[in-house]
Amino acid sequence: MISSIPKWVGDLFESTLRPNVKVLETSYLSSQIKKIRFQGDISKMNFEIGYANVLRVSETEYRNYTAAYYNKAKAIIDIIFHIHTNGVGSEYFDSLKADDETFIGPSRGKKLYNPSIENQFFFGDETSLGLACALLPLMKNNHHQFQFYFELDEENKNVPKLLGLENFTVFPKDGSFRNEKKVNELPICKTTDWLSANYILTGNVKSVQTFRKVLKHKVTGRIFHQGYWLEGKKGL
Ligand SMILES: Cc1cc2nc3c(=O)[nH]c(=O)nc-3n(C[C@H](O)[C@H](O)[C@H](O)COP(=O)(O)OP(=O)(O)OC[C@H]3O[C@@H](n4cnc5c(N)ncnc54)[C@H](O)[C@@H]3O)c2cc1C
Repeated sequence: MISSIPKWVGDLFESTLRPNVKVLETSYLSSQIKKIRFQGDISKMNFEIGYANVLRVSETEYRNYTAAYYNKAKAIIDIIFHIHTNGVGSEYFDSLKADDETFIGPSRGKKLYNPSIENQFFFGDETSLGLACALLPLMKNNHHQFQFYFELDEENKNVPKLLGLENFTVFPKDGSFRNEKKVNELPICKTTDWLSANYILTGNVKSVQTFRKVLKHKVTGRIFHQGYWLEGKKGL
């Protein structure tokens, strides 16, 4: 996905890239997790599970974020940002406050959910909390058996509860999900009841790759995967 464009291209398309939403309200669920409610014309956006919107974070840079909640009738969209303080996007969204205006581009991407499968397993980190929030009502309305696994920094461990998520387990972000042996020891990898489940793996690229490798040797169900960020790489 494109994360930056030359300034002249931005200038050329200035009219289409100009602010199209306003910040209605912001709240911090921890020092690193910020939820922002935007209002604007989202009528043409397609919020398929797994799709992300491209948001403008500087004159030339764009980053992908997921709608945690949307309501087309009220023209509102909520996004949950990981304020990791290491990038232009993180800094930009940390600074946004009520009444600020910004640009949210179209949503597109990879579908990560098959509603016809009863058991649904989800893995992610801080960047995946929005997707988990979008999925929860579908999991409940479609009567799935579901469980969420999150690898989170210590200061964010209470955020899933604050967001109203259910059936989740929080693991410390200590590198365990990059270690095949440790992933193999997880309860989800020990049970035989979830072999044909749908697996949705998101978040850090290395964690997603390790988890996927382990699951591929074990399960018969479909594994949907999408890395959201990678150390040293700008704007996946
Ligand atoms: C489909 C998709 C959906 C996404 N949805 C969300 C979402 O809803 N909420 C959300 O917060 N993020 C989401 N992301 C991840 C987000 O786009 C990236 O984290 C992005 O790199 C942040 O941009 P930045 O400008 O802050 O950092 P960048 O300029 O891209 O990166 C600068 C440095 O920061 C590091 N970095 C980037 N992200 C993180 C992180 N999360 N933790 C620690 N270090 C990091 C990079 O490795 C790099 O070294 C999504 C990504 C994709 C592909």
